[in-house]
Amino acid sequence: MPPHAKQPLLKNLPGVDHVLEKTREDDRFATVPRQVLVTSIRTVLDRLRQDILMDKKNAVDEAFILTETAASCRQKLTPKLLSLVNATGVVLHTNLGRALLCKDALENIQKIAASYSNLELNVATGKRGLRYTAVEELICELTGAQAAIAVNNNAGAVLLALNTLAKDTEVVVSRGELVEIGGSFRVPDVMSKSGCCLKEVGTTNRTHLKDYRNAVTEHTGLFLKVHASNYRIEGFTASVELEALVSLGKDHDIPVMEDLGSGTLVDFSLYGLPREPLVSDSVAAGADVVTFSGDKLLGGPQAGIIVGKKQAIERIKANPLTRALRIDKLTLAALEATLRLYREEDRAVQEIPTLRMLTMTFEETCRRAASLKKILENIQGPVGTIALADLDSRPGGGSFPALRLPTRCVTLKPAAMSVAALERRMRLSTPAIIARIENDRYVMDPRTIQPGQETIISSTLETVLATP
Ligand SMILES: *Cc1c(COP(=O)(O)O)cnc(C)c1O
Repeated sequence: MPPHAKQPLLKNLPGVDHVLEKTREDDRFATVPRQVLVTSIRTVLDRLRQDILMDKKNAVDEAFILTETAASCRQKLTPKLLSLVNATGVVLHTNLGRALLCKDALENIQKIAASYSNLELNVATGKRGLRYTAVEELICELTGAQAAIAVNNNAGAVLLALNTLAKDTEVVVSRGELVEIGGSFRVPDVMSKSGCCLKEVGTTNRTHLKDYRNAVTEHTGLFLKVHASNYRIEGFTASVELEALVSLGKDHDIPVMEDLGSGTLVDFSLYGLPREPLVSDSVAAGADVVTFSGDKLLGGPQAGIIVGKKQAIERIKANPLTRALRIDKLTLAALEATLRLYREEDRAVQEIPTLRMLTMTFEETCRRAASLKKILENIQGPVGTIALADLDSRPGGGSFPALRLPTRCVTLKPAAMSVAALERRMRLSTPAIIARIENDRYVMDPRTIQPGQETIISSTLETVLATP
């Protein structure tokens, strides 16, 4: 369109007030807050103006403007953080929110959030208390540690511990443990942000005690061990046990810290899984400080837990950075309720969703898969090929690297669309169903599908398959 032809079009664009007036008589806008309405109208008119200038639009009509405004309002009024169905089989899926909270944790959040609490009041003395008191004793009981503190997350716990114990000193770490956890947590970066100087020792696959010993200078402030949470080095490897490092630390008066990542409080080898390091093992080995996540294998809320020797934890509590990383009361409520369950391991494994899903037997997944398949077979209209397949779920969340959990899944080869199109449309549904594609089949993994969600999957599938 020649430039002179655009001018009348631009001039004919109605003003915000005019469109606002029109929305008054339109039911679609009856409950839209004015602020949302005005922003949406502005956005739509701006976009139209751009489209006219770029020759993408050569006519303007009011109905179109109102329809676009309604769509924009709808989009703005839809909550952004939404619950969805995790049919991927990845139990601790960081992108999908990691651990699901147990019932006790949910109830406790509700109780503490709706009322005043003794968050920082010592009721016995009437004086100010510390928020960590709610969980410190419990964590010590469960791990054998002398003292404990919980903060915002494990990345924060590592930052805080390093900053407290080793600021302006050299921290000795094996090259095989300079890990990246994803989502921008890299051990060397956290170390420099905490004011420590990284001293790498050993090689990627092999590090010996003498490597640590030879690295010791007058500037050495800490030996750090980092658990290889999300990868595994296999073959010709060697690493130094925590006990040996603790003993070397004693000789040189150097404290030892271990970042366990997703440390656990239960021994998974009792449930047919490989043994992940127990927090109590690291405490017993004599580490001065051990850090781990609240929402990985522990199955609680996002938190970072620091346990260790009394003296080290006291120093951490006194660090001003602690205030910036402090745990909030809702998290604390969830954490306390979750930790309480660990006093009876049977209950913990039954009631903490993460533990329940990880320890779910193959037989149980067979039962669940059969029941899901049956529900899907009741869908009206042409569906495609529904079948059972013995595949693997994954623990995820930087735990049990390389471990596969044998699981019977339900697979679907849709009749009328590609598997990729099905996956996309299920993902864009409300609620979103997130699943995986394997061997050109849409795979629904019962291990992470929560009880009651089978019917949501089936009704969503019915809608998606019925829409051309
Ligand atoms: C996951 C992980 C972290 C970070 O923990 P967040 O709770 O996610 O902050 C740090 N270190 C290791 C080894 C981890 O596996």
